[in-house]
Amino acid sequence: MHPRTITLHDCDFSTYMHEEEILSYIQLLADQINKDYANKKPLFLAVLNGSFMFVSDLAKRINLDCEVSFIRLSSYKDMQSTGKVKEILGLTEDVHSRHVVVLEDIVDTGHTINGLLQQLKEKQPASLEVATLLLKPDCLQHKLDIKYVAKSIPNDFVVGYGLDYNGLGRNLRDIYKIVS
Ligand code: 5GP
Ligand code: MG
Ligand code: MG
Repeated sequence: MHPRTITLHDCDFSTYMHEEEILSYIQLLADQINKDYANKKPLFLAVLNGSFMFVSDLAKRINLDCEVSFIRLSSYKDMQSTGKVKEILGLTEDVHSRHVVVLEDIVDTGHTINGLLQQLKEKQPASLEVATLLLKPDCLQHKLDIKYVAKSIPNDFVVGYGLDYNGLGRNLRDIYKIVS
């Protein structure tokens, strides 16, 4: 297939991962989770906004009794510099003694997921794991054990399939990477 180029705001992006390829990675992830959580009734906590397409396609492939719920993280502009932990918004479930799986769109430096995991751990879940659609291993700045990764990618900025560039691109069914 010919690469397709699109422009969002002031940046050009070209096709990087087609929907079928994304779905094949998600199927493998779902197979793993179905096996690991057999008889466990996991609670999936999806981090909005970027995870919405991933969660939809993953959840359809989970054949366990499970709960799917959504949270947001309040963003502090200075978080990167101060390492300040973001606040969890919209968490209505009691995670105590639950098998929690956090669903993320992408883990880059790991600041976000690291802060979130710290806060969730205090609530004493029975187990706590992360499933992310994308991981940039070269960017990680925390010692994180991310058990479920659909796809590791190089350090390029990507959009589409839920991921945005300044608000645009979330609706795209494929993933695009920035043209440098
Ligand atoms: P962290 O650096 O804390 O791991 O990632 C924080 C957030 O940065 C992610 O949840 C995501 O919203 C955003 N981010 C990191 N890398 C990318 C990327 O390549 N594309 C987009 N659209 N967002 C990214
Ligand atoms: Mg995210
Ligand atoms: Mg974003």
